[in-house]
Amino acid sequence: MKKRIAILGSTGSIGTQALDVIGRFSDAFEVEVLTAHNNVQLLIEQAILYQPNAVVIANDKNYPVLSEALKNYPIKVYAGHRALEQIVSIESIDIVLAAMVGYSGLMPTLNAIKAGKTIALANKETLVVAGELVTRLALENKVPVIPVDSEHSAIFQCLVGEHGEAEKVILTASGGPFRGKSRRYLENVTKTEALRHPTWSMGAKITIDSATLMNKGLEVIEAKWLFGLQPGQIEVVIHPQSILHSMVQFEDGSIKAQMGLPDMKLPILYAFSYPERIKSNFTRFSFTDYPELNFEAPDLDSFPNLFLAYQALKTGGTMPCVMNASNEIAVEAFLDGRIGFYGMSSVIEKTMDRIAHIEVPDLSDYRDADREARLFAESLIG
Ligand code: NDP
Ligand code: MG
Repeated sequence: MKKRIAILGSTGSIGTQALDVIGRFSDAFEVEVLTAHNNVQLLIEQAILYQPNAVVIANDKNYPVLSEALKNYPIKVYAGHRALEQIVSIESIDIVLAAMVGYSGLMPTLNAIKAGKTIALANKETLVVAGELVTRLALENKVPVIPVDSEHSAIFQCLVGEHGEAEKVILTASGGPFRGKSRRYLENVTKTEALRHPTWSMGAKITIDSATLMNKGLEVIEAKWLFGLQPGQIEVVIHPQSILHSMVQFEDGSIKAQMGLPDMKLPILYAFSYPERIKSNFTRFSFTDYPELNFEAPDLDSFPNLFLAYQALKTGGTMPCVMNASNEIAVEAFLDGRIGFYGMSSVIEKTMDRIAHIEVPDLSDYRDADREARLFAESLIG
């Protein structure tokens, strides 16, 4: 039986690569649902090519164009955030790929878990915002959450077949376009420079997060929830070539790493095919092409966002949610040219200081914390 997949965020970087994977392995997978936000033209093309059961466009202004273009196809067409949150529970879906960006992925992912769907998780912000709630619900509903983020896929793969606990995990980071740069240099960098990632081609938000190392901070929190770790068990090491995707160190001192060329199609395929592996013709890694692999400690002075993320992780409760919300606002403002590189850290730090902290939050507390943090962060930017 083919696995039937819903892709939330099919028009994005992960979404389009996931469709490529499904197209290459059409004996194993088929598309059941596609969702997008604004890119209605691409969604129409994808729907015609992959013939899903249903499509959802989150921005309902795009509904007339979408429904007109698909009127002669047997594809159900829906619009709005409500529809997007509900579509994940339809009977015919086996796997939900959460590949929307930011906080917007939380509600559909929670609903997919409640409906018992296997989650392939790219949208790391979902675990940053509400990791406790998401992992608890997944456990209660016996739903596997399989990471797509390359570092976490690497750790997940290293843990397969192990019985004992990990002593620690080591998350690798490419260091982004500004690795080795001083604070003085970074004060004046532009959006164009920040968007030029050395090893990965990704959506704008995660590319800026990679330039500030906030992406690694989000991933540290993501790792805590996926693998049940304490802050002291999660280490970050800069590895500019992005070949070792991450490592696990076990109690006897042995370290396992998962390696390969930087290509998101691999972790996407693994999340879809798990627990099996499927033979692929993806380009193979050659050790002799990479005679040197380098490692260094992250520079928390030049990249304070990683430090802020560790602070949020240690504080727990609503703090990571507040940090995430203020980061989303800060990244948007940086992309609009309204604040500079360190303006982002300053907005995040001040918002984390200001918003009241709740130690044991429920879903409505996360919602309130997210909303308040956004409003306050916006007010700082002006
Ligand atoms: P993109 O910005 O490329 O794509 C985001 C997708 O989500 C698009 O389909 C977009 O629709 C949709 N979307 C955005 N906002 C909303 C909203 N409010 N409601 C509904 N849909 C929305 O992001 P990426 O693919 O790069 O990243 C997706 C997630 O995966 C992020 O959480 C990122 O951190 C994570 N990730 C990404 C990696 C990568 O290589 N790109 C690697 C590891 C993790 P539209 O375009 O139609 O507006
Ligand atoms: Mg990653």
